[in-house]
Amino acid sequence: MRTPMIDYLHLLLGSVAEDAGEVASYIPELELADPDRLGIAVATLDGEMYAAGDADVEFTIQSISKPFTYALAIADQGLDAVLERIDVEPSGDAFNEISLDRGTGRPRNPMINAGAIAAHALVRGDDAEARAERILDLYSRLAGRRLSIAEDVFESELSTADRNMALAYMLRTVGKLRGDPADVVRGYTRQCSVSVTVRDLARMSAVLAAGGRTPEGDQVFDPAVNRQVLSVMATCGMYNSAGDWLTSVGIPAKSGVAGGLVGVLPGQVGIAVFSPRLDPHGNSTRGVRLFERMNHDLGLHLMAPAESARSVSRRLERDGAAVHEIAGDLHFTEAERVLRGFALEPVGDAPVVVDLDRVHRANDIARRMLLEGIRRLHEDGHDVRIVDPWGVLGSAETGSGELVRGEQAHGGYVPASFPDVASAARA
Ligand code: GLU
Repeated sequence: MRTPMIDYLHLLLGSVAEDAGEVASYIPELELADPDRLGIAVATLDGEMYAAGDADVEFTIQSISKPFTYALAIADQGLDAVLERIDVEPSGDAFNEISLDRGTGRPRNPMINAGAIAAHALVRGDDAEARAERILDLYSRLAGRRLSIAEDVFESELSTADRNMALAYMLRTVGKLRGDPADVVRGYTRQCSVSVTVRDLARMSAVLAAGGRTPEGDQVFDPAVNRQVLSVMATCGMYNSAGDWLTSVGIPAKSGVAGGLVGVLPGQVGIAVFSPRLDPHGNSTRGVRLFERMNHDLGLHLMAPAESARSVSRRLERDGAAVHEIAGDLHFTEAERVLRGFALEPVGDAPVVVDLDRVHRANDIARRMLLEGIRRLHEDGHDVRIVDPWGVLGSAETGSGELVRGEQAHGGYVPASFPDVASAARA
């Protein structure tokens, strides 16, 4: 079978044949872009990539760099230090607006230029080149291939960077930027000049969708940092059309003036499109229409969440034991259903088997809920046996990424894997 995914992407590109808007011209080199380019890539969290149109054409990342560099700044300095210098409020202003909070002097958010320049300055590195190199390493790790800087765009942008220079000097006057403003703008401009394709951007977005982890299992961002970045993208990623975007498309996103636009559906998918003509907000005209159409066709809106699986757990009787067979990824709502099942077990010493053979992932809250349920079954007198071949209970990650052992979490009763019980339960 030929997957309908690719046909759908071609159909999608065909649906935005008409284009409007202008290619960015305030950076001379960007004006040379072919305005008719159109490409799309969709990356799943397990590493599958679907692409159509100009998916291998390179363009500069521009402002799509901002969320990734913001993540690096937090990793380098800690969230509190970053929040001290950059706020997280949507500004409602254009991307290059001189928009600092009156009281604190902080840029409103890291997605507008003022905040992005401040974030770049917080990345560790002695000078522009050192910071840009670390940033390039990070983007390459996210994209899964070695990226490079488009030197022609960099030179062109730096030679016309007066406004960004003004922002950087102003940030220094209000104490929100340490170091030499010209050096910071140089580094920031290098960061914006990283050359990418929609395939690269879709993969980078898929890492954000996966809580900071690549399909190969490389945990690039701490889950808490990743969440911070996605939240800021959701509220501030589309400049002064952020409200429009969140209501009509409804996923964290970021656009760049070279015509790139990425969207992240947490837990599901990373999407990138490329079409250089921009609307008056500075967002790719066809890019926005593609996302609106996908939202309609694929039900991507964050505020229309998929209902959790109803059939997460079932109870069987086997060899005198009550077997709770649990399946699927576990979060709060699924764990609550499992606990409901446990609660129906009458007090007594009848053996209970908790079979997690079909569970590969549980978030921290689901894991703790299950452990507490198991502890209570045990307390009620049951001989509880746990089938946990994937180590869901013993090694689930907490929000901070550290491992919490079963014993710490539930007071002395050590859950273990009993593969032999698994075969017994299935026999
Ligand atoms: N490098 C561009 C600038 O600082 C980024 C703007 C954008 O992509 O929106 O003006």
